[in-house]
Amino acid sequence: MMQLYQPLNILGFAYREIKQGLIDMERMFELLHVVPEVADAKDAKPLEISGAEVVFDDVRFRYDPDREILKGVSFTAKPGEKVAIVGPSGAGKSTIARILYRFYDLEGGSVRIDGQDLRDVTQRSLRASIGMVPQDTVLFNDTVGYNIRYGRPGATQAEVERAAKLAQIHDFVLSLPKGYDTLVGERGLKLSGGEKQRVAIARTILKDPPLLILDEATSALDSTTEAGILSALREVENGRTTLVIAHRLSTIVDSDRIVVLREGRVVEEGTHDALLARGGLYASLWRQQSETQSLAAE
Ligand code: ATP
Repeated sequence: MMQLYQPLNILGFAYREIKQGLIDMERMFELLHVVPEVADAKDAKPLEISGAEVVFDDVRFRYDPDREILKGVSFTAKPGEKVAIVGPSGAGKSTIARILYRFYDLEGGSVRIDGQDLRDVTQRSLRASIGMVPQDTVLFNDTVGYNIRYGRPGATQAEVERAAKLAQIHDFVLSLPKGYDTLVGERGLKLSGGEKQRVAIARTILKDPPLLILDEATSALDSTTEAGILSALREVENGRTTLVIAHRLSTIVDSDRIVVLREGRVVEEGTHDALLARGGLYASLWRQQSETQSLAAE
């Protein structure tokens, strides 16, 4: 019997790791034959997107029984808006992204997209509507072309290349030994964090989802790479409802709305200018980051 438990444990571990990394679950379920923790309701319907408005309504959530992580979080991202979630480490920012992707169910409150509660729609339709650019993209052991085309398996080579150009990765791909046919991933060429992220952006441009979640890289990228990624992201954000989980404030100054989270609660909300003028938590986070950056530049 123990022999049976061991692989199951390992699968459980892999599943948790994957959830943490926000990578593509549908494919991973196939690979691992894992039954998801969250099940579709019996009468679940496909999500119908009109403008892709996202509403978090008094959301309460805990991973473990003894610790509440989100303590009644409410905010709205109107159709086409870019909303940034910021706050100190551990505040619950990435948890919000995981909940929107429905990796977990809630303890209280609701999350609705265009008025439909996530619990009432099929997970497949939900995830088909969301593009996710995670912090750390896991590449499949396949060609770089396959990894981009994964966003829309029927896409033509011309469409793949167009997406790669918009994501500013095309020239890099052409410089590889076999161009789009170069093998990448653990068993192929290892790409840098910034390159992997641009592959993920190209994939998302191809997928063309109405709703976007960007989980920003925590680690600082060099400024040229960061500028390239930012302009690639602007390309994919354009016209879509976008939720940015932001670790560096410099990248979200232009957001329509910034939601400031502390210890699982929304403590401030507004535009960058309004929040700076308010002189609260956001203003002090901004000051801290500006000081660190100018110190690093010296
Ligand atoms: P950071 O800026 O450091 O990435 P964050 O605001 O994104 O932080 P979350 O990742 O949402 O924070 O985590 C919120 C809290 O939930 C943290 O205290 C974290 O330790 C806890 N947590 C996260 N994932 C799990 C998990 N799978 N099981 C138990 N606790 C978890």
